[in-house]
Amino acid sequence: MRLIRINDNDNVAIVTASCPKGTPLDFGITALSDTPIGHKIALADLKQGDPVFRYGVLLGHLTQDVKKGAWINEFMLDLPSVPALDDLSSEYNPSLENPVAGLKAPRTTFMGYEVPGCRYAGTRNILGITMTVQCAAGVVEVAVRRMKKELLPRYPNVDDIVAVRHPYGCGVAINAPDADIPIRSVRNLARNPNFGGQLMVVALGCEKLTLDKILSPEENNSENVIVLQDCDGFAAMLDALMIMADRKLSILNGRRRTELPLSRLCIGLQCGGSDAFSGITSNPSAGYASDLLVSAGATVMFSEVTEVRDGVHAIARRCLHGEDCTKLAYEMRWYDEYLAKNQVDRSANPTPGNKKGGLSNIVEKAMGSIAKSGRSPISQVIGPGELPTRSGLIFAATPASDIVCGPCQLASGITLEVFMTGRGTPYGLAIAPVLKVSSKTELGDRWRDLIDVNAGVVADGTSSISEVGTDLFNLILDVASGTKQSKAEELGLFNDFLIFNPAPIT
Ligand code: CA
Repeated sequence: MRLIRINDNDNVAIVTASCPKGTPLDFGITALSDTPIGHKIALADLKQGDPVFRYGVLLGHLTQDVKKGAWINEFMLDLPSVPALDDLSSEYNPSLENPVAGLKAPRTTFMGYEVPGCRYAGTRNILGITMTVQCAAGVVEVAVRRMKKELLPRYPNVDDIVAVRHPYGCGVAINAPDADIPIRSVRNLARNPNFGGQLMVVALGCEKLTLDKILSPEENNSENVIVLQDCDGFAAMLDALMIMADRKLSILNGRRRTELPLSRLCIGLQCGGSDAFSGITSNPSAGYASDLLVSAGATVMFSEVTEVRDGVHAIARRCLHGEDCTKLAYEMRWYDEYLAKNQVDRSANPTPGNKKGGLSNIVEKAMGSIAKSGRSPISQVIGPGELPTRSGLIFAATPASDIVCGPCQLASGITLEVFMTGRGTPYGLAIAPVLKVSSKTELGDRWRDLIDVNAGVVADGTSSISEVGTDLFNLILDVASGTKQSKAEELGLFNDFLIFNPAPIT
């Protein structure tokens, strides 16, 4: 049976299928115990205290002796100390060469919706209704149901009407320094390119997130804003919402897709429910697609602070601008302190599902996670919910939580997300297509109606990373251009907009 070893220095390899004790494996090894799919097998006799390497990186030291062929699980490894942040700037290399300079994207344009005054074009044409506070959610939801029934059919060029329901807005310490994150997230989310530059904001009237915090004085008027407490009852609220939606929908309906260079496309990458295959199949395939996109001028974001923390030096080494090493250290330190406040560290990240899938600790998860960023240089580091000012590969320092990372990336302007999964999740975002990539064929087959691309074929040996990556690149452009839909869109699977709020709730 096949064993996959990533780096010549690795002293472990993973099994490509569950194998019973006694199974003959590659490298003349025999499995010494029943070993689950994706888990690590020792390639040599190792002693307690010996280092264990995968991806050529130290995963930890053994807590017991193991024989060649033994299953190495999460309980047999200690966690190495977290990399220091003080010396990140020393990784900066001003003469950095682009390792993928020779890569040529097979396509350089897509069909998108231009947005006046916006760097990025939309991939969908959606009326977004942003609320300043969760208190407005019930009214907006009833209104949206009626809009979809009575208004949307009259505007065939509009894809959808979405209420941006989020938990923020009141009962929060609005002046706390960390409140900047949720405030800018709501402000930028309302301006996602998929909303076509049409602002529609619903306020309650007494909330802490006042309209001036998310709208300019020119925008803050009755053209764009409905204040529920100014309406004479529910029926009047509904009337006001229907009238404004009708006006905005008629504008959106006049939009048409045009052929645009990929410099107008901004997408996000994320993973969730990762397993030991994620780092060798789905994530590097997404990394290859990312390199193709970046080479053609697109903007691609990767994120998930706790999943890159252990590889932070490798990220700093790829930064094109020295100031981004400083920004990277700031964002990492901020997150370390955020976790430390509750007496946890990055070891809180791997889930029981990750471990069952063969990922022993956060170092192993991080190395697989970083693979999704491909090999392109990093043109900018941004904070959660911030807008990038440069194109190319961006590190957006968001939490790794699937349902928080997605809204953060949407606030930063992505109009499509590629989501890699090993264990499987039906995750989706209501305002941007999500393409899901499975790390193994077993999931790709079993979840045929949920998974868009099966990267498990790389582990099966029937396809290569560049082949799967090129297919993914083409699918991204087809879905961005509206000629195809993602499975999550077809099925209507959408998660909530959980804005990242690290500030106190009062
Ligand atoms: Ca995630």
